[in-house]
Amino acid sequence: MEARILDGRALAAELRAGLTVRAAALHARGIAPRLLVVMVGEDESSLAYVRGMKSLGAKIGIHVVVEVLAGASNERAVNEALERAAEDDDIHGVILQQPLPKHLSIRNIAGAVPERKDVDGTNPVNQGRLAFAMDTRFVPATPAAVMLLLERSAAWPLRGKSVVVVGRSSVVGLPVAFLVLAQNATVTIVHRETLEIAARVRTADVVIVATGRPGMVDAAWIRRGATVIDVGTTVSDGKLRGDVDFESVRTVAGEITPVPGGVGPVTNVALMRNVIAAAECVAELVA
Ligand code: NAP
Repeated sequence: MEARILDGRALAAELRAGLTVRAAALHARGIAPRLLVVMVGEDESSLAYVRGMKSLGAKIGIHVVVEVLAGASNERAVNEALERAAEDDDIHGVILQQPLPKHLSIRNIAGAVPERKDVDGTNPVNQGRLAFAMDTRFVPATPAAVMLLLERSAAWPLRGKSVVVVGRSSVVGLPVAFLVLAQNATVTIVHRETLEIAARVRTADVVIVATGRPGMVDAAWIRRGATVIDVGTTVSDGKLRGDVDFESVRTVAGEITPVPGGVGPVTNVALMRNVIAAAECVAELVA
């Protein structure tokens, strides 16, 4: 039997409809939700991403504005732009577009992303809240998208389930592991140095893959009936490819996210959900 497809586009459309209603309620109260994207330099794929965010924001009722700093800007200039955004009451959400140019270190800048507007959870304070499952304000968009898809999967609730996360990056693998742990799953994180990696992955009820290695996980890695979430997005030969060999894995998995059409579309909406939540906080303060 073939795996059920966890359809990210359908979920994104459903979530978007809910956000549109919430945005309209904010507008009715005189609050126009606004997201600022701070970019350093004009990286092609970042520009394409920002165009997509503008168009999604327009559909929901969120104004997405972009501040492009010169590619040669130093850390002080980036921090100052973020500090200006912190002071601007018309801006509810701020993201610092990555990748940054090589001469800049995110470690020296992340702390300047205003904590209450940090809609992609970049500030170390918000990362710490997520890690300790304490008063988490903003779950970063991609990990949030993984959880939104899992909530609608047959594996939910995750309590007692065995979850293997392939990849340990600070933007995907690690925060996803914290989130599934907070749901009382038993979590294993595997990476490049893990021995017998396929055998470990094969023990999982839920497999979440974020490596950037197209097609790395095939059917031999997957337990029959498992839920498989593919975060990978690599463009090769002009096509977007995931980290999971979809055609082989769909013959053994119980459920699987496609690429494209899985995690990606939900990620963008998850970010917008954080912008709306940030604007709603402001609305509560002025109520
Ligand atoms: P990253 O920072 O490069 O991290 C990759 C992780 O995968 C590392 O922990 C690495 O292990 C592990 N890994 C790489 N090759 C491996 C191998 N052969 N065996 C085992 N583990 C391996 O990447 P990332 O930022 O997490 O992104 C991962 C993928 O997700 C990329 O394709 C990216 O484009 C995609 N992505 C998608 C979205 C979305 O919205 N859909 C958002 C963000 C990222 P080590 O730590 O040992 O090196």
